[in-house]
Amino acid sequence: MQYLPTFTQITQRPCLVIGGGGIAARKVALLRKAHAQVTVVSPDLCEELAALHTKKQIKYIQREFEDSDLDECVLVIAATNQREINERVSTLAHQLRLPVNVVDNPQLCSFIMPSIIDRSPVIIAVSTGGSSPVLARMIRTKLEGSIPGAYGTLAKLVEGFRDKVKAAFPKVESRRIFWEEILGGPVAEQVFSGHTAEAKKMLDHAIAEQAETPDMPGEVFLVGVGPGDPDLLTFRALRLMQQADVVVYDRLVSPAIMEMVRRDAQIVYVGKERNNHTMQQENINQLLVRLAKEGKRVLRLKGGDPFIFGRGGEEIEELAQEGIPFQVVPGITAANGCSSYAGIPLTHRDYAQSCVFVTGHLKDSSVDLNWAALAHPHQTVVFYMGLHGAPTLCKEMVAHGLPASTPVALVEQGTTPQQRVYTATLETLLDVIASKHIKPPTLIIVGEVVKLHDKLAWLEENYIENADSVFAYKQS
Ligand code: SAH
Repeated sequence: MQYLPTFTQITQRPCLVIGGGGIAARKVALLRKAHAQVTVVSPDLCEELAALHTKKQIKYIQREFEDSDLDECVLVIAATNQREINERVSTLAHQLRLPVNVVDNPQLCSFIMPSIIDRSPVIIAVSTGGSSPVLARMIRTKLEGSIPGAYGTLAKLVEGFRDKVKAAFPKVESRRIFWEEILGGPVAEQVFSGHTAEAKKMLDHAIAEQAETPDMPGEVFLVGVGPGDPDLLTFRALRLMQQADVVVYDRLVSPAIMEMVRRDAQIVYVGKERNNHTMQQENINQLLVRLAKEGKRVLRLKGGDPFIFGRGGEEIEELAQEGIPFQVVPGITAANGCSSYAGIPLTHRDYAQSCVFVTGHLKDSSVDLNWAALAHPHQTVVFYMGLHGAPTLCKEMVAHGLPASTPVALVEQGTTPQQRVYTATLETLLDVIASKHIKPPTLIIVGEVVKLHDKLAWLEENYIENADSVFAYKQS
C-alpha cells in the first residue's frame, strides 16, 4: 500500500490554497464542504472565487505566494500553473511537516486527494495512488450507482441510537452482530424508502426484543473457500468472512483470500501440512468450541470444500455435541477448480463416463484403496494428497489393468497465479514429479480426459521452476 487512507478533521481550521483559477476553485469548494476556513493567495481570482470573496466566504490575499503564508495554516494546496511556486510550496511545507497537496503532481505531495462519494456522514474515498485518476473516477461512478443516497440518513439514524444500543448490548461483539442485522435488514429498507419514523420505531422494537442475555453462545461458520483463486468464493463465504470475530485457517487458504477477511478479526493459524501439524485436529476442534463459548463468531476457513477430504465433519461433530450453533458453506473443491483451470474436463462422452475423488493419504500414511474399482478405462480418478503415495498409485493402477500409457496430469497450486500443469503417463509420473520438483498442494488426475489438456488449456500459466508457494501464508 503506497498511501494510508485517513480522513482529516478541518472544521473551522485555517487551510491555504495557492492559486486563483478554476482548479483552485474546485479545491476551495471541497475544503469548504468540510467546513474549513479557507484563505486563497493569488494575484487574481476566477469569477467563482471572486464571488466567494465578495460574500466573505473565503479570505483573499492578492499577491504572489510568500513563504510566511504557511505560518498560520494546517493544510496547504498548491494549484498554480507555475512550477517554481508549486515546488517551493512543497519544499517548505515538507520542512514544516505541513500536509501539502500539489495539484497533478503526486511527487510533490505529502497527501493526495481521492475521488469522493459523499453520503455524509458516510464518505467513500477512492484512490489509484495517482496512477490513474480516470480509473478512480470510473470506480467512483460505479459506486455512486450502487450506494443509495439514503445511506447518509441511515448513518445519522445509527448515530442517534448508539448509546441506547450500547446499553442494551454491553458486549462489543453482540453489538456488532445487532448492527449488522439492522443495517442489512428491514430497518435499512425503511430508511431507503424514505420512512425514517417507521425505521426508528422498528429499531426501538428490535433493541427491546434482542437486548443481550448474559452468556449468549457464539456461532461457528465452517466455510469452504475453494482452491485458491478468490474469484471462486461464494457470496455467502464472502459475507461471513466479513462478519467474523475470529478466523481459524490453515495452509490451504491462499493469502489472496485471507486479504478479504475482516481487517480487525483475530487471526489464528492452525497449520496442517503432512507430518507437520501445527495444531492437532483434536485441539482445533476444542479451539472452535472454546471460542464459540466465549460468544465469538468463529470463521473456520477450509481450502476447497469442507466436506471433501477436509475433516469438516469431525469439526462440526464436536460442535453439535456441545450444542453450539454452526453453519456449513460449500466451496469449490480442488478437483473442480484444478480441472477447469487446467482445461481437463472430468467427464467427457468420448473418454470418461464416471469420475471418482480419492485420497492418496490415509491416517497411518499408507494408501489402501479399492484399486480394482479405480482402474477402470472409462473413468477419471482424481487423487487428493497423492504425491507421497504416487509410487503405489502408479504400480497398483497398472497391476489392476490400466495400460502404463494411461495419461496423468499433475496440477500444482491450481487456480492460483502460480498454477503449473504437467502431463505424464502412469509409467513416467514419478520421473516428472522428481524432475519438475512438484510440491503440494498438487492434484493428480488419471484418465483419458487428460489428453484434452493440450487442446483446452486456456489459462496463461506461470511456469517458474521452483516458484514460491502461494500457500506458505502464515500468521500467528
Ligand atoms: N477440502 C479440500 C481438499 C483438502 S485435501 C478440497 O475440497 O479441495 C488437500 C489436497 O487437496 C492437496 O494435497 C491437493 O491434492 C488438493 N488441493 C487443494 N488445493 C489445491 C490446489 N490449489 N491445487 C492443487 N491441489 C490442491
